[in-house]
Amino acid sequence: MDITQLVQDITARLRQESERGQVADYIPPLACIAPDKFGIAVVLDDGSLHCAGDADEPFSIQSISKVFALTLALGSVGDQLWNRVGREPSGSAFNSIVQLESEHGIPRNPFINAGAIVVTDVLLGHLEPREAIGQMLRFVRELAGDDTILIDESVARAEQETGFTNMALANYMRAFGNVHGDVAKVLGTYFHFCALAMSCRQLAMAGRFLMDEGRVEGRRIVTGRRARRINALMMSCGHYDNSGDFAYRIGLPGKSGVGGGILCVAPGVASIAVWSPGLNASGNSHLGQRALEMLVQRTGWSVFEAR
Ligand code: GLU
Repeated sequence: MDITQLVQDITARLRQESERGQVADYIPPLACIAPDKFGIAVVLDDGSLHCAGDADEPFSIQSISKVFALTLALGSVGDQLWNRVGREPSGSAFNSIVQLESEHGIPRNPFINAGAIVVTDVLLGHLEPREAIGQMLRFVRELAGDDTILIDESVARAEQETGFTNMALANYMRAFGNVHGDVAKVLGTYFHFCALAMSCRQLAMAGRFLMDEGRVEGRRIVTGRRARRINALMMSCGHYDNSGDFAYRIGLPGKSGVGGGILCVAPGVASIAVWSPGLNASGNSHLGQRALEMLVQRTGWSVFEAR
């Protein structure tokens, strides 16, 4: 199948859609992004890259960074991480605080805000914020094979100034003893992770290790077992309270961010990134999901489809 043609067809079709969802406006710089942006990039297992639309324009990856933060934290403390964060879908909004009360400050999974704040705190167990941010930047650059990837300081600053819900989450977990470090340092680091700016091309390249059993171009990044487990968490928890529907419609591990990006993995087959800034009610890219649905219908890449 001609994947380049396919992603171009999907782009042409979705560019005509008038229903695009709502651009996130609770982080001020994100509110200024043109809602008609649309990009898609697919890296196949043979290394070939297939792009269409605004695939080379960097956008704020936001919660997609939670996949890279989790990978680093597992590399740092291994399965001990699971003493402080769960592995169950939350069924609640990305920034929900309600479950923390009954679950004694243990977030449901690493892909909601509360979980990623704990993951960041774990990384800061042996690093200063500056070092942890540097480690993250080096990691995504290495995964993508691209040293031009940057953090958008204006987005990080805006989140610092407006992230009152995240402050509440971090302080609440601190009260339960599940945030150990200085709350301001933990949040400052978390906001810098969210403010990573990457294009669809860079993101799809960075997802290759999850496509290829933990390897990138033959180099081992994580064990095959760890890559499979991260994919499992992306499938069950990667789209907040919309994760079940995403699995139902697309059938692939994926992680979304409120910047409108989605990183999606067809294990052994493809690493895919899509970007369309308009979000559905759960904070996931509306057209991004549509694009993935169309791609999977045409290619049969769902993990539930017999090969
Ligand atoms: N930086 C965003 C926040 O903490 C990330 C949200 C998301 O992409 O889900 O609110």
